[in-house]
Amino acid sequence: MARIAVTDGMADDAVLILRDAGHEVEFLQKKDPIDGFDAVVIRSATKMTAQVISSAPSLKIIGRAGVGVDNIDLLAATNSGILVCNTPSSSTQSVVELTIGHLLASTRHIPAADRDLRSGLWTKKNLKGTELYGKRIGFIGFGRIAQGVGNIAKALGMELHAYDPYLPLDIANEHECKLHENVEDVFRNCTHISVHCNLSDETHHLINLETLSLMPGVGADGTKCGNHIVSCARGGIVNENDALEALQNGTLTSCALDVFESEPEISHPILQHPRFHGTPHIGAATYEAQKRIGFEMAYLLIDFFNGITPKSVVNKDVLN
Ligand code: NAD
Repeated sequence: MARIAVTDGMADDAVLILRDAGHEVEFLQKKDPIDGFDAVVIRSATKMTAQVISSAPSLKIIGRAGVGVDNIDLLAATNSGILVCNTPSSSTQSVVELTIGHLLASTRHIPAADRDLRSGLWTKKNLKGTELYGKRIGFIGFGRIAQGVGNIAKALGMELHAYDPYLPLDIANEHECKLHENVEDVFRNCTHISVHCNLSDETHHLINLETLSLMPGVGADGTKCGNHIVSCARGGIVNENDALEALQNGTLTSCALDVFESEPEISHPILQHPRFHGTPHIGAATYEAQKRIGFEMAYLLIDFFNGITPKSVVNKDVLN
């Protein structure tokens, strides 16, 4: 029997599975110590820093219920012999659908239209949008989520472009996506950019004034559709100061973010810009995704405590 701490919530059914398997599951509050537990299940809110990791010598496994592991000090975990696992595919479809929602909301001014309507304003004349049909979408990172967005974007009549230095060319070809050798070429070609890479030193502030200013503003079909950017990946990839300046100087027509450099405390002035809209990191916040994530995590932990190495080990070095 293992003692499992849950810090950012877990689906009820998944907790039942763990308890039925004989494990003890305890929900912790933000500052509660993790020491004494064999496993901790976190989402994106808990920061597993080197200090937190060293304060919990009993820990054997960190389960990231979700994809991104940028909130975990992987080196510190590896050095302490702690396995880090995630649930890489469970939320893909939910993030795909949110991204499409943001794209459509941006180009048809849905958030602004709703705001005006609620204030009793019939601003139809100011709300002329553009179609996604006939435009080029550029993906920064073309992994699971981007490929799902790409399938829908293609069905909407968009041409797919991507920058992903780690992607085999045949995967891009399979999706009829033009893979570019440098990120600038994607910005030069596309009026719509969707960010789906991981946050790393390489991708920190990759979306900035310089890259945004390369965008053409005119779609492949000749429509002056302006430039649009959506990020449902990780805060810190889009430079929010630069995105605001690009909105103010007309380089960007819209900016939609689900993720922010500072979460959950948010106060950036971009939030007040009329052509910005956002969501509070709800990419994986669907019943289906949370259920899938919970089940995947529960069975992964049960396997681990039965001596079976989970499939989704992030820090494989720890197995050596
Ligand atoms: P994935 O690993 O399948 O795809 C990420 C892609 O980014 C990979 O193909 C990788 O090669 C590429 N990449 C890595 N470094 C790059 C670089 N320097 N430049 C360009 N591309 C680079 O992951 P995924 O499941 O598709 O998730 C994508 C992103 O979405 C991650 O950042 C993840 O944290 C985030 N995410 C957000 C939410 C949310 O709630 N908003 C939920 C799930 C995932």
